[in-house]
Amino acid sequence: METVVTVNSNQVQKQDSRQNETLNLLSSTQSIIKEAVRRLGYNDAMYELLKEPLKILTVRIPVRMDDGSTKIFTGYRSQHNDAVGPTKGGVRFHPEVDEEEVKALSMWMSLKCGIFDLPYGGGKGGIICDPRSMSFTELERLSRGYVRAVSQIVGPTKDIPAPDVFTNPQIMAWMMDEYSRIQEFDSPGFITGKPLVLGGSQGRETATAQGVTICIEEAAKRRGISIKGARVIVQGFGNAGSYLAKFMKDAGAKVIGISDAYGALYDPDGLDIEYLLDRRDSFGTVTNLFTNVITNQELLEKECEILVPAAISNQITRENADKIKAEIIVEAANGPTTLEATNILAERNVLLVPDVLASSGGVTVSYFEWVQNNQGYYWSEEEVAEKLRKKVVDSFERVFSTAQNYQINMRLAAYMVGIRKMAEASQYRGWV
Ligand code: NAD
Repeated sequence: METVVTVNSNQVQKQDSRQNETLNLLSSTQSIIKEAVRRLGYNDAMYELLKEPLKILTVRIPVRMDDGSTKIFTGYRSQHNDAVGPTKGGVRFHPEVDEEEVKALSMWMSLKCGIFDLPYGGGKGGIICDPRSMSFTELERLSRGYVRAVSQIVGPTKDIPAPDVFTNPQIMAWMMDEYSRIQEFDSPGFITGKPLVLGGSQGRETATAQGVTICIEEAAKRRGISIKGARVIVQGFGNAGSYLAKFMKDAGAKVIGISDAYGALYDPDGLDIEYLLDRRDSFGTVTNLFTNVITNQELLEKECEILVPAAISNQITRENADKIKAEIIVEAANGPTTLEATNILAERNVLLVPDVLASSGGVTVSYFEWVQNNQGYYWSEEEVAEKLRKKVVDSFERVFSTAQNYQINMRLAAYMVGIRKMAEASQYRGWV
C-alpha cells in the first residue's frame, strides 16, 4: 500500500506524570460542572452534591495465580449520582487505574447518560492489574473475585457494569455468571457488553464508532462540509478509531492519517484502511509494520477538515492547540483536549464536539442491551442502528442548540445538558 512520509519514530510517546494527569482531569471536570450548575441557576449545594461521587468502594481481591501463589489486587467501584436511576459504567483492567481516575470517569458517565436522556446515573469501576501478563484462568478468577467483592452495591436496578479498557465480552460473561450464582437466579441485566448468546445486543462492538460517525455527520452539516472527499485524521487505531476510520472511508471521506501508540501513518492521497484493519493486532497496533511513520504530534497538526482523537487523554493542549488545522474536532477518546486548549480552539472558531457527547454510542447501546434483557425480546442490528442514530442526532441537536442559545462552546453546553436532568431529579427527591 502507499504510505507516504518522512521521519522515523518508533518511540511510544511519553506521558506526563500519571497522577497529575488524573487530578487535572478531575479538577477540570469539577470546574466545568461548577460553571454549568451556575448557568443552570442552581445553588452551591447542587455543585457540592455533583462535584464528587456519592459512593466509592475500594476492594482488595485475593486471586490464586497459576503458579500456586496468591496475589492481592485492588479494585474500585464509583457511583456518581443515582437520582435519575441505577448507575451505569464500565470496568477497566489496567496497571494505571487509580481512584481519582475512576471517580472522574464515573462523573463523565453521569454526563453522558444525561445528554443521551438514558434513565441512569454514572458509575465506573477498575482493577489495578495488567491483563496482558495474566492467563485466561487468572483473569477469570480476578473477574469473579471483583464481582464477589462489589456484589452488595451492584445489580440490574442498582449499578450496571460494562466493558472498558482491556475488558471484553468474555470477562462480562464471567462476571454475569458469578453475579447470577450469588443471587441464585439468572441476571443478564446485571451487566452489558455480553456475548450475543448470553443476552448481548447486536451492534454493541461498533456502537462507539457509529456514534462518533453520526456526530461527525451532524457537525459537518452545521459547518457546510461534505463528508464525501473530506480529509479525516484519526488518532488511535483500537476499537473506536479503527471502526471509525472504516465508517468514514465507507461514507466517501478520505482518511489521510491514522496512528497508534508507536507512531502515525500519513498519506495526503488517502490510506488503505481495509489493509490496515487486516494487519492491526488486537491492541490496535499497526504502525510497527512500517518504516515511514511520523509522530502522533506531527499527525495532529496536519491539514484536514476533520480530526478525531481516539486514543488517550491530554493530546490537544495549550502547546499545540494553535497549530491544529482541522475545522472540526470530534472527541472519540475520553479527555483528549485540555480545558485551556478547548478555549483556544473556541476562539479560533474550530467546532469541537466533546467526548461526553461524541463517545456515548457505547453506553447508549449498552442501555439498549439492558432494555432487551429486561423485556426478554431482542432487536435486529438494523433496529439497534436506527434507535442509536435517533438518540445521537437528538442529543447532538440538544447540545448544539444550547451552545448557540447561550453563546458558549459545545463542551460547556454538553455539561449543561448532561447535568439538567440529574439536578432536577436530585431536587425532586429532596436531596438539595
Ligand atoms: P483501544 O485500547 O482498543 O485502542 C487504543 C488505541 O490508542 C490503540 O491503537 C493504541 O495503540 C493507541 N494509543 C495508546 N496509547 C497511545 C499514545 N500514547 N499515543 C497515540 N496512540 C495511542 O481503546 P478504544 O476502546 O479504541 O478506546 C480509545 C479511546 O476511546 C479511549 O480514550 C476510550 O476511553 C475512549 N472510548 C472508547 C469506547 C469504546 O467503546 N471502545 C467508548 C467510549 C470512549
